[in-house]
Amino acid sequence: MELRAYAKINLALDVVGRKDDGYHELRTIMQQIDLYDEIKLHAEAEIGGSGSQGQILISCNDSMVPTDERNLAHKAAKLLFDEFEITDSILIEIEKNIPVSAGLAGGSTDAAAVLTGVNEYFGLGLSQEELIARGVKIGADVPFCVMGGTAYAGGIGEELIPLGALDDYIVLVAVPDTRVSTKWAYNKFDEIAASGNVRHPDIDQLRAAIEMEDFGCVPEFLGNVLEFATMPEYPIISKVKSTMMQNGAAGALMSGSGPSVYGLFMDEDKAAKAYDVLDMFNLVPEERIFLTAFHN
Ligand code: ATP
Repeated sequence: MELRAYAKINLALDVVGRKDDGYHELRTIMQQIDLYDEIKLHAEAEIGGSGSQGQILISCNDSMVPTDERNLAHKAAKLLFDEFEITDSILIEIEKNIPVSAGLAGGSTDAAAVLTGVNEYFGLGLSQEELIARGVKIGADVPFCVMGGTAYAGGIGEELIPLGALDDYIVLVAVPDTRVSTKWAYNKFDEIAASGNVRHPDIDQLRAAIEMEDFGCVPEFLGNVLEFATMPEYPIISKVKSTMMQNGAAGALMSGSGPSVYGLFMDEDKAAKAYDVLDMFNLVPEERIFLTAFHN
């Protein structure tokens, strides 16, 4: 079975609280984009039927990604294997195209695809809603990745409201060659927020604009509070964002906790020009720049 696991960007991201268990409560609007990992599920017979039952094996073309039980795709399969007492073995082959630790939900989307794939492969009969309920146990972005398209998410990602498909923009995603720890970004945000130095995005306005299909004003409502945490420490993020704006993006924003930045363009030539500028001035390695589109 072959699956596509699509990346997401945050059109808006706000942190509205912190729960006692340390989880941050978010309000966000997420959008899938047409950048995806390719996942193949191979059943026991195809992997040689080693004899040991219920094994979950992972292979991945990216050596940075763990292939043991730390892999989110492994966690997803294990969750269903345990619940449904599946005794067959499975090999999950992951071809990563989504940069790792980029703020594009690469691991979460692999987990979501495996939940959906295992459900189908073994005929478990779980509905999308039931898969979402299991997905939140793996990670905050997994429920959205199961649902796909465009959606509002609240809580720690489990309160999901699908929004209508957004009109087409050209999406230029650039992932600077640096790693931002999600944990660090949220801790830094807590520090900065305590001093009141953040501007919260107007999530309700953005949601209303999408619901009313007023897509033209989407770029003006883009906003991510985590930029206040990451941008002072990682100047490359602001540089990439301003390069996109100077080269004709209608709007640009950091996704998740970074370092990826995307620009929304209405004009293909301008998007291609911005791509060239990012590459030419060595702001972002070419293999980490993606000229793509929304996936609905
Ligand atoms: P998010 O946007 O949800 O915060 P991210 O895009 O910033 O996520 P990921 O690419 O999901 O980050 O990687 C975060 C960590 O998860 C990495 O340290 C990576 O080793 C680990 N990981 C586990 N499983 C996977 C997977 N299938 N693909 C990529 N990374 C994975």
